[in-house]
Amino acid sequence: MRCPKCGCDESKVVDSRPSENNDAIRRRRECIECGFRFTTYERREELPLVVVKKDGHREPFDRQKPMRGLITAAVKRDIPLEVLEGVIESIESEQRDSGKTEVTSEEIGKAILKRLAEIDKVAYVRFASVYRDFKDVDEFTEEIRSLSQ
Ligand SMILES: [Zn+2]
Repeated sequence: MRCPKCGCDESKVVDSRPSENNDAIRRRRECIECGFRFTTYERREELPLVVVKKDGHREPFDRQKPMRGLITAAVKRDIPLEVLEGVIESIESEQRDSGKTEVTSEEIGKAILKRLAEIDKVAYVRFASVYRDFKDVDEFTEEIRSLSQ
């Protein structure tokens, strides 16, 4: 790491610790030439997460979009907002941790359904009716039946 004072290419790390909000490693360095001390931060690179829509259109992942669908599905179901936010957050971090930079809107919908099924059956069915785009009433009835088993 180049010294900002003398331009020397070599420095040694004299201290290393997580930054205040724990999202980076803060390193205190000392130039081996002039002894100047400076700080560097090492952050995990945040890859952009891209959503591929049904028509092939791509757009940046936006938490607000699936969140709106969740809130609509959860109307009058007494599910805390933090729980819904947790659903979206866990899906987003799952995608990021997998190292993939692209996810289809269908995959997101499925991941939401999987979690909703454990949280609230009514919200699940409401969400499913929008995201699964059921072809007919039979298909929808079948889905509800499979839930009560
Ligand atoms: Zn220096």
